[in-house]
Amino acid sequence: MQYTVELLFEEFVTHDTKRFIFERPKGLKIEPGAALLLALDKPKLRDDLHPFTPTSLAGDKVLEFIIKQYPAHHGMTEKLHKLVPGDTVLIKGIYGALAYKGPGVFIAGGTGITPFIAILRQLRKEGKLKGNSLLFSNKTHADIILERELRHMLGKNCVFTLTRESRPGYENERIDAKFLKARIKNFRQRFYVCGPPEFVENINAFLQKAGAKPENIAFD
Ligand SMILES: Cc1cc2nc3c(=O)[nH]c(=O)nc-3n(C[C@H](O)[C@H](O)[C@H](O)COP(=O)(O)OP(=O)(O)OC[C@H]3O[C@@H](n4cnc5c(N)ncnc54)[C@H](O)[C@@H]3O)c2cc1C
Repeated sequence: MQYTVELLFEEFVTHDTKRFIFERPKGLKIEPGAALLLALDKPKLRDDLHPFTPTSLAGDKVLEFIIKQYPAHHGMTEKLHKLVPGDTVLIKGIYGALAYKGPGVFIAGGTGITPFIAILRQLRKEGKLKGNSLLFSNKTHADIILERELRHMLGKNCVFTLTRESRPGYENERIDAKFLKARIKNFRQRFYVCGPPEFVENINAFLQKAGAKPENIAFD
């Protein structure tokens, strides 16, 4: 698989995260929650592949990504954030998949929300959001991606926690076993976990400690 796609539009969605709208290549098939391997369309960088999760849906006419930049790495995300409409990137494959298997609790840290945005948007389109909830952890309020859309989709079934800022209307704790037990009644349901590796590892352990079965926990 290889597609060259043109950037049509970009905008900041938080202070360090941008929404990128690319033309959608004909024939691209990807399930909500799965990631694509992207490379910059520049000399020496065409084989430097990095995974990013489309947040657009299969039926959309464009391909959307929400991407946080790490300028200190001087890597792909710093260069992606400098792209302007008309520039192109390469799509070179599909990377893993965090697939929806039924209602459950989505637990995200930072940009780990991207596969869940794709999945939740698809469920909304199909009228199947019922029974799903979200726990979304960020450092500060300014870091929260698409808060309004998430609240609109999930209403009360959406909890935001801030680990480095105290703010009315938001939890102010790290997600640990105590946090989970206080907010989740049923640990026999499905769990979907996505975020930095350490976050995923810790949440996975806390969930199992609280009684969730490993086969009911999907993570990436
Ligand atoms: C399945 C999957 C889906 C993903 N989807 C998304 C998504 O939708 N949106 C999103 O924003 N992100 C997503 N990511 C994360 C994204 O892939 C990475 O943030 C991205 O690849 C980082 O690329 P980079 O070149 O900027 O930095 P890196 O590849 O992390 O770093 C480039 C180089 O910088 C150096 N470096 C590494 N760490 C540091 C450091 N702390 N300080 C200084 N230098 C350092 C190293 O030499 C490294 O080779 C996803 C990841 C996975 C696994």
